[in-house]
Amino acid sequence: MSEEQQQDLFGLFSPVSGVHKAPPAPASLASGGVVFERSLRASRYRLTVRRDGMAVATIPARGSEREALRFVEQHRDWLERARERLSRRPHGADVWTVGTRVLWRGELTEIRVAVAGERPQVCLAADVFRVPRHDGDLKPTLEAHFARRARVELPARTWELAAITNAAVTQVTVRNQRSRWGSCSANGTISLNWRLVQTPESVRDYIIYHELMHLREMNHSHRFWARVAEVCPGWEDAERWLKRNGSLLGL
Ligand SMILES: [Zn+2]
Repeated sequence: MSEEQQQDLFGLFSPVSGVHKAPPAPASLASGGVVFERSLRASRYRLTVRRDGMAVATIPARGSEREALRFVEQHRDWLERARERLSRRPHGADVWTVGTRVLWRGELTEIRVAVAGERPQVCLAADVFRVPRHDGDLKPTLEAHFARRARVELPARTWELAAITNAAVTQVTVRNQRSRWGSCSANGTISLNWRLVQTPESVRDYIIYHELMHLREMNHSHRFWARVAEVCPGWEDAERWLKRNGSLLGL
């Protein structure tokens, strides 16, 4: 995994600190849910909270588990607040049936019966999808339909925006990513999350622009954000939408 992909994690909260002051005794880590991971690339201790609520404490190359424990203890309050925030994020329905509202093209849209009988179909707004039957969980079938549409629509849109911005894209892939919306590599490959067909078009475009601009600036520097703002003036609204609604899509 490239550095860049690492940086494009969405939905994780993390305080970064290089300062370690007088440690309170690392008494009660049993209170739990923290795993420790050593990273040769990390230069500082870091604490992140995964979507499942598990905290991950990163130990830098020269760090010790003891110091990491102290670091976690020092950030107890932060950790609790992060978990609390996480639990308040909206979740999508686990089981989809006729009548369930799901995010589709940026709107919470009700699954409706389109065609009954031997070849059942459901619709989401104007889009119609074949399903094996109307009862039971429709989620696996519909998500497969969404992913199939994404594999057609997202590359097409990416090539379009690449042409407009003169970006040197070599390949576009659509993937089932659980922790990021997109990524890119130095050789010009852009990977996009198929769930972008469920977001508003403006959000989908922002993610594409974001990755396209990484082909010029492989970092999140001011220069990078200035380039993003130039081609996608509404990027901050898109980021806000993702923060607020990403959890509905499991990110
Ligand atoms: Zn990025």
